[in-house]
Amino acid sequence: MTELDDLGELRALPKIELHSHLDCGLSYDAVRRIDPRISREHYDRQFVAPSVCDSLGDYLTHTFNYRAVLQSERALRIAVEDAFAQLAADGAAYAELRFAPMIHVEDGLSADEVVEAVGDETVRQIEATGVDAALILCTLRDYDAEQSLRTARLAVRHARIGPVAAFDIAGDEARHPLDTHLPAFGLVADAGLGVTVHAGEGGGPDSVTEALDKTTTRRIGHGVRSVEDADLVARLAAESIHLEVCPSCNVQTAAVASYAAHPVDTLRAAGVPVSVSTDTRAVTDIDLTREYAKLGEAFGWTRADFGEVNRAALAASFADPSVRRRLAGVLDDAYPKVPA
Ligand SMILES: [Zn+2]
Repeated sequence: MTELDDLGELRALPKIELHSHLDCGLSYDAVRRIDPRISREHYDRQFVAPSVCDSLGDYLTHTFNYRAVLQSERALRIAVEDAFAQLAADGAAYAELRFAPMIHVEDGLSADEVVEAVGDETVRQIEATGVDAALILCTLRDYDAEQSLRTARLAVRHARIGPVAAFDIAGDEARHPLDTHLPAFGLVADAGLGVTVHAGEGGGPDSVTEALDKTTTRRIGHGVRSVEDADLVARLAAESIHLEVCPSCNVQTAAVASYAAHPVDTLRAAGVPVSVSTDTRAVTDIDLTREYAKLGEAFGWTRADFGEVNRAALAASFADPSVRRRLAGVLDDAYPKVPA
C-alpha cells in the first residue's frame, strides 16, 4: 500500500505497545550516561544480541548485561526517560513497560525503592511526553515461590499508589513450569490486578495451555508456538485470548525459522486477537516503526491491518477506563474503520 511505503508515514501512526521490557531497552546513550566507561563497541557486542541466537537461553544471557548497570535510582530513572523518548519517537500513544524489581536490588536498593523510582519517573514521563503508560511487574521462571510472592505483593501494594497495573512471569519457560508461581498469580488475581504470562516462545503449545488452565490470564506474551496445535488456536480464537506478538524477537530467539515463516498472519487469519510489540528494543535492535515496515513487507499489512491490531491491543490493555476512551479516539482518528 503506497501510503505506507515511507518509514515516516509508519512512524507517525499511533501505536499501542503491550510488551516491552524496561531493562532490555536501554539505548547506548542511556548506558553511557549511567556508566561512561562502556564503549559503543562493547555495547554493540554485549548488550545487543546476534540477529539469530541458538536458543532462548542463549539470547537471555545477553539480557544479563543490563542488570549490572541498573542498580541505582538514578540509573532506573534514566532507563524510564530513555524508554519514553524511544516510545515518543516511535509514535507510541500508550505502552505497558515491564520489569522484574528483584533484579535491581543487588547494590543496596530495596525492591520497594526500585518500584517507587520507576513508578515516579513513569508518571513524570507520561506528563512530559504525552505517551500514556502502565507498568507490569515480572517474576522470573527460575525464582522460588517466595520470590514470586514478594513480587506479587509489590505489584498489589504499588497498584494502589502508582502506575503498576499487572503481574507477569518471564524467563526460560522451556525449563521451568508455572506450578511454583501459582500462589503469586492467585494473590494478584484476588487483588483485581491484570495478569499476563510469557509462554509459547521458548516452550511449545503446552506452555500456553498451562498458562490458560492454571492462571486467570487472558493474555499471553508471545504465544506464537500455539500455531503448532490447531485445537489450541481454535481455543484462543473462541476465548479471545490476546497474543502479545514480537516478531523480530521471535526470529532472534529461534522460536520461528524466519520472518517470512512467522505465524502472526496465520494466527490473525484464524481469528486470534494479536498485537505487535518489540519485547526487547535494545537486545533485538528493533523499534515498532521498523517492525511495522517488516510486517508490511512480509505479509502485505496495510493501515487497516495496523488499525485492527492496535484496536486489539487497546482492548487487551491494562489501561484505566479514561485512558482507554482517549486512546480509542486517537485510533479512530488515525485508522479507517473496516466496514463490517
Ligand atoms: Zn518478553
